[in-house]
Amino acid sequence: MAEQSNVEGPDLAEEGIGIDALDADVPAGGHVDGQPVVLVRTTGGIRAVSGKCTHYGGPLSKGICVGEEIRCPWHHARFDLESGEAVGAPALNPIAVYEIEERDGRVYVTGKRSDPGVRSAPPRSPGSIVIVGSGAAGAAAAEALRRYGYDGPVSLIGKEKPVDRPNLSKDYLAGTAQEDWIPLRSEEFYEDSRIDLIEAEVSRLDATEQVVHLEDGETVSYDALLLATGAEPRHIPIPGADLPHVFYLRTFADTKDIISALDGAQRAVIVGAGFIGLEVAASFRQREIGVTVVAPEEVPLAALIGDTLGRFVQDLHEENGVEFRLGRGVDEIGEDAVTLDDGSSIPADLVVVGIGVVPRTGLADEAGLETDRGVIVNEQLQTSDPNIWAAGDIARYPGPDGEPVRIEHWVLAERQGQTAARNMLGYNVVFSDPPFFWSQHYDIPINVTGHLGDWDEDVVVGNPAEHDVIVGYRKDGVIKAIASIYRDRENLQAEQALAEGDQERLRNLLALE
Ligand code: FAD
Repeated sequence: MAEQSNVEGPDLAEEGIGIDALDADVPAGGHVDGQPVVLVRTTGGIRAVSGKCTHYGGPLSKGICVGEEIRCPWHHARFDLESGEAVGAPALNPIAVYEIEERDGRVYVTGKRSDPGVRSAPPRSPGSIVIVGSGAAGAAAAEALRRYGYDGPVSLIGKEKPVDRPNLSKDYLAGTAQEDWIPLRSEEFYEDSRIDLIEAEVSRLDATEQVVHLEDGETVSYDALLLATGAEPRHIPIPGADLPHVFYLRTFADTKDIISALDGAQRAVIVGAGFIGLEVAASFRQREIGVTVVAPEEVPLAALIGDTLGRFVQDLHEENGVEFRLGRGVDEIGEDAVTLDDGSSIPADLVVVGIGVVPRTGLADEAGLETDRGVIVNEQLQTSDPNIWAAGDIARYPGPDGEPVRIEHWVLAERQGQTAARNMLGYNVVFSDPPFFWSQHYDIPINVTGHLGDWDEDVVVGNPAEHDVIVGYRKDGVIKAIASIYRDRENLQAEQALAEGDQERLRNLLALE
């Protein structure tokens, strides 16, 4: 007997679903052999695919369908319904596609389809492609090159192997995710995909000779190059900042260092009440470390996501034992205490500083690329050098309003990497996805879609304290972004409406006139 735990709806092999019960473009959940399967009626016909997202296992039956795509409600991964391919980050692996049969007005799932499809050759095929930076954008780009049919040499050069960076401040730091969940891929994966993963630092980019120089003196030449060097934590210029118990969090190694320092520690001070600082606070509380968060603002995150959500996040942390010293700066870090700008002192066995990041534009600057607080790229993510593209935290691209923006989100970086990869192959795709990010505090996820620029009004529908809220951010009456807690389908719908510039749909989602 097939195991049927954690699955909902009818057995799609035995009972099937009445065709009339399938609303157009609305996923219907069921199961086959104990596995979740989703049926969807699109304009292309009835499709059956796995109901489980390959990113974090989100339920695709609670997602939405757009054209021939199904999108996951948790972190907005996108899959092609015909091929099962992961066509939009954060998922990298495809979902299974099932065969169906229509009988007596019902549709039944008859088995998994095995044909992975044939890849066609790309419009352009550079002699060799080098990617500098093996983070979100770089790693996603390398895989996309293969997915979109590139057969030539790909070098992915980075100071660390690709890791699931968002997890570093969340479950892994909290001690609830295993170490082997953190690498995005195994070394065999890169071998099998013929992606040459080079663990090294690039010390110079020579755009004239089309060659990158590695720290050890080796060189790698390219016909097309992607710069994806990300950002590095902003350092705090105060006495004591270089003491060994002061940490910044960007890499897998940083997290491991912090976890080692927690051994025997009782109290931590976190400097900065941004998303990363607060996620670290939540993870430390899950390990029963006493936490004080120090930050200059009066309400955490209020400038980004508004007063209502900011206060909710603060309350949530306080309920979990975090102390806040808001409206305060840090003057000095000592061996076992931190001194604030009002002269008070807070005991600390370790200090984590999370006060923002600075894009790593050094290679681009030296190579003479156009930069301005980021590497300037056009709508196809191409830099001022036609052989070089840039993606992720370093890229300043024409954003949702056409104004150049630089955005620091995981999914956006991966999708930019994927788009840049396609454009290196001559697909000429404009990058226009609305930004999306999520943050997790204890068991509460916050999803934000759109560009949280300089909004002037936040419209709150529902109650964050009841863990059921959707917030719209307007500028001059135009909805620019949506944040939500447990309104995942609406958040996905908002992403689609923002992509289409459909303000009416956005107003409907917020129940506005
Ligand atoms: P990165 O992922 O930082 O990758 C850049 C890579 O380039 C790094 O591996 C770096 O070592 C390498 N590199 C740099 N210079 C060189 C060089 N000269 N030679 C070789 N290699 C080089 N975003 C969200 O949307 N949701 C989240 O929940 C979230 N959580 C986060 C948690 C943490 C702890 C951190 C640090 C960030 C989080 N972010 C989150 C932000 C997100 O991770 C970044 O926006 C994203 O990783 C940016 O991707 P990237 O490829 O531009 O840079």
